[in-house]
Amino acid sequence: MSNLEQLLARYNDVRLLGQANAVLGWDQQCYMPHGGGAARATQTAVISRITHEMFTSTPTGDLLAAAEQDNTGSDAASKDAQILRVMRRDYDQETKLPTDLVEALTRESMLAHEIWVDARKNDDFKTFAPTLQKLLDLVRRQADCLGYEETPYDALLDRYEPGLKSSDAAKVFDSIKPAIASILAKVRATPEIDDSVLRRVFPEAQQIAFGEKVVRYLGFDFNHGRQDKAVHPFCTGLDRTDVRITTRVEENWLPCALMGTMHEAGHGMYEQGFLPEDDGTPLGSAVSLGFHESQSRLWENTVGRSQAFWNKFYPELQAAFPGVLDDVSLAQFYKAINKVQPSLIRVEADEVTYNLHVLMRFELEKQLVEGTLAVKDLPDAWNAKVKEYLGIDVPSNAQGCLQDVHWSAGLIGYFPTYSVGTVLAAQLYDAALAQTPGLATDIENADYTQLLGWMRTNVHHPGRRYLPMELVERACNAPFSAEPYIAYLTTKYGAIYGA
Ligand code: ZN
Repeated sequence: MSNLEQLLARYNDVRLLGQANAVLGWDQQCYMPHGGGAARATQTAVISRITHEMFTSTPTGDLLAAAEQDNTGSDAASKDAQILRVMRRDYDQETKLPTDLVEALTRESMLAHEIWVDARKNDDFKTFAPTLQKLLDLVRRQADCLGYEETPYDALLDRYEPGLKSSDAAKVFDSIKPAIASILAKVRATPEIDDSVLRRVFPEAQQIAFGEKVVRYLGFDFNHGRQDKAVHPFCTGLDRTDVRITTRVEENWLPCALMGTMHEAGHGMYEQGFLPEDDGTPLGSAVSLGFHESQSRLWENTVGRSQAFWNKFYPELQAAFPGVLDDVSLAQFYKAINKVQPSLIRVEADEVTYNLHVLMRFELEKQLVEGTLAVKDLPDAWNAKVKEYLGIDVPSNAQGCLQDVHWSAGLIGYFPTYSVGTVLAAQLYDAALAQTPGLATDIENADYTQLLGWMRTNVHHPGRRYLPMELVERACNAPFSAEPYIAYLTTKYGAIYGA
């Protein structure tokens, strides 16, 4: 076997153990009994330790160096060169992290899950605060090991969005804030849209069946995927042939499960879309979380909240819930599903205010990591931000700083990728339209085959061959830009709220 083949064999063991760990994580959030948390934390921590040791060991480093030597002078665009670039980046990052830190982070974040679930249920921030402090100490140590120039936050953000700095993320927010403010001013000046039709009784079984029908139509492959229920919906790609999505159902709030299912299916179709020939290499996986989120938000919002989509699916929705929506016109429903209203919960936020939820989390977690905000002061700081950005009072921590799973999972530095993805979804959609003859007509007819095909070719198949910002340029023939997103929001909500 060549050095590269030996290296890939070793890498593949690490990858397969990671997949096994992902099954344990999926099970924890979907089926594990509440009391199983401590045992599960130990199981996953041990697997994390073993995989980290295997990947960062001297034999891996030696094989990598030897394979790079063998490959010297060969075409930089060749698959071998691409594999080695990704492997080198991962190896250099992982070897900076001591194994005991990796194991501790895994264990603490698994233990934190059940503590967070209870704290949120009981609206008791004090029981979660020590755990959050412990996790912050660990990620700060992680940032110190990885190294950074301006702020430790950058080292964490880079794990999720390679190459992006917090100053870049701040620029994205600065560029979209004026458009959001101007739409919100129009919303305030317009009579409130009545969305009570979405709060009628929609039985759970029918909601799940309808959501699955929709995402099967969009292209989610249930032969290589399944959907289950979870407190905080997520998608986990165990392998491109086995992708798990989850949803949460509220019988009196239709968008929760339906839009959530479309969102997670967007993540899922990305995971199902890697090239079979990249199996067992580091190329066949997501390039960044921003790209991941671009896929989920494309199907949830750009498609799932569009007029063309509902022209097709509204009669089917009415038929799926006999009698419930008979008196509601398509036009009324379309407005209801696109109602803009500042609200408390990020995952239920409309398209316009969504990025404000992300912005405040980005600002707060950056302060937590930099040590300028103490954990005990988080609830007050949170509530003040909600008041500042969304103009509303937070009645409880359960609906405030305890609402998201991320911090309990040690995912700190992750939030900005949601806004990067939202902005990127619009840019990719525009690029697909510009490059694909007939796509605009297809979309008018709610046929998304070509749209998914374009995403497959330009986003899914490249996997990790290029850095995220390089991939944007290749796909869109333009650098990353918030302009398409601003234009999308302004046009769409100008029409709904009177331009
Ligand atoms: Zn998502």
